[in-house]
Amino acid sequence: MLTDLIEALQAEGIDMAWQDFANCRGADPDLFFPERGASTRTAKQICRECAVQDDCLEFAIVSSEKFGIWGAMSERERRKIRRERQIAARLRQERSA
Ligand code: SF4
Repeated sequence: MLTDLIEALQAEGIDMAWQDFANCRGADPDLFFPERGASTRTAKQICRECAVQDDCLEFAIVSSEKFGIWGAMSERERRKIRRERQIAARLRQERSA
């Protein structure tokens, strides 16, 4: 599933060169897109040993990925980061106004 997504994005011309270094290549996609309530521990461990964890996480945050483990974070964890960034951006905007 993750591989399909990567290939689809590459076909759209989106630079995904960092994916060439993904530690999850060849891993079971179900680990990264688990059923509701299933453990994400193994996927997150694979991510923590991944050379492109930061790139992956940033991509998932910026593109608002709704599903799966990306950069060792779940959608819920990524949503929290997006919210914090939005608040920080709003505060910067208010200060500069
Ligand atoms: S951080 Fe995780 S999901 Fe992202 S490329 Fe690396 S192993 Fe794959």
